[in-house]
Amino acid sequence: MTRLDDDKFFDPDMETMSRADIEKLQEARILKLVPYVYSRSALIREVWDEAGVKPEDIKSLADFKAKVPFIDKDRIRQFRDEHGDPSGGLVCVGPPHLRGVGFTSGTTGDPTPLPRSEYHVAIAGLKRELWHIGVRANDYFTYALFTFREGLNADKWMDSGFRPVTVQHLPSEMPHLVKMSRELRPKAMFMLSTPLIIALEKYEKDTGDDLKEAFSSYKGVVFGGEPMSPHFRAVVTGWGLEIFELSSLGDITTTMDCRAHDGMHTWEDIALIEHLDPDGDAEMPDDSRGELVVTALLDDVGPLIRFRTDDLVQFTRKPCSCGRTHGRLKPIGRKGDEMLIEGRSILPIDIWPLMEQFEETRTGLFQMIRPQREADVLTLRVGYEESALKDSLEQLSARVADVVSTALQVPVKIILATNQSMLKDGPPNKIPRVTKQ
Ligand SMILES: [Zn+2]
Repeated sequence: MTRLDDDKFFDPDMETMSRADIEKLQEARILKLVPYVYSRSALIREVWDEAGVKPEDIKSLADFKAKVPFIDKDRIRQFRDEHGDPSGGLVCVGPPHLRGVGFTSGTTGDPTPLPRSEYHVAIAGLKRELWHIGVRANDYFTYALFTFREGLNADKWMDSGFRPVTVQHLPSEMPHLVKMSRELRPKAMFMLSTPLIIALEKYEKDTGDDLKEAFSSYKGVVFGGEPMSPHFRAVVTGWGLEIFELSSLGDITTTMDCRAHDGMHTWEDIALIEHLDPDGDAEMPDDSRGELVVTALLDDVGPLIRFRTDDLVQFTRKPCSCGRTHGRLKPIGRKGDEMLIEGRSILPIDIWPLMEQFEETRTGLFQMIRPQREADVLTLRVGYEESALKDSLEQLSARVADVVSTALQVPVKIILATNQSMLKDGPPNKIPRVTKQ
């Protein structure tokens, strides 16, 4: 690892590697990985045998992409159930390397088991991200841990010289976070989530403490867990904090945006990224919408191989204005939420900003009605605030339909409902954005 004089990157050789060199590195890692997983992972062996693929058939990155069969969550769960194997047949090693089994969040069903190693590859990427935010050797950064990440211990950060200050990822710990921020002057906060922001807002209101002053040492804060609402974005920037959004990269590692805020950086030395037609295996054009398919290049415990994530992303391999060359993605939704209206891809993310244009619908309570994936008309159930009504419901409906159909270039049908009735099944963040009826 070398350091450039301009101090811009944690690992300049890796972060600014040419596309040809990235692919050369990926190929070398894939050719090592293929015989390894085939001989050790029972799931991979079963799936490849079914497809008639042998490790010796794979002699290049192109062979890998052309021949190796996909796996997905259903296949991992199926293996788990058929073989009574809690790790879904993914495990390639025994103790002491296998630390345990983690699980995906299970938002689309039964959580999927994922074996976890002692060394978590996500740390390799996080060092690059924290450096980008402005953390240097001997600087502190706040490390608010979720309990399931307890394996991310301080010694993992040794080679960077960064000093993690661990805080439990709990709303009740927020007064401690504030106190510690004043005492140690950390440079980055990893990471905030909606429940922590709500707790900090309440703390500020109850105590009158000045959080802008308390947080003045931070050069950035990482936010993750879900898309950030405009309200919470405004609250956090009000504390003088620049927000960096973080998301999971197909359960292999994480992906985070940079100061350019133009897509989240993926680290293609850690994960092989494919950006494919959600309905097939064709590569999608650069910067278009496609399904994220990942292969873990540095995980020797339970690597996912050509794992179809069900996540739809807009993906580009164009170098970023920050100087890094690895691909960038914008998460846009789940595969099961996408609708094709007259062939155009529509997701809830397309609807959000349009709802904010009207006083009556600004709370953004809406649902896409999706009896099946393809339809001729986009039908939206839209919640409105009764007290904000300016004209008749027919007029509001026509105004909303007009804006949506103009913006998305598809025929639109609006069904209005009061916000109150939209909320009868739970709080705003629990409303299913896509529903069958
Ligand atoms: Zn960038």
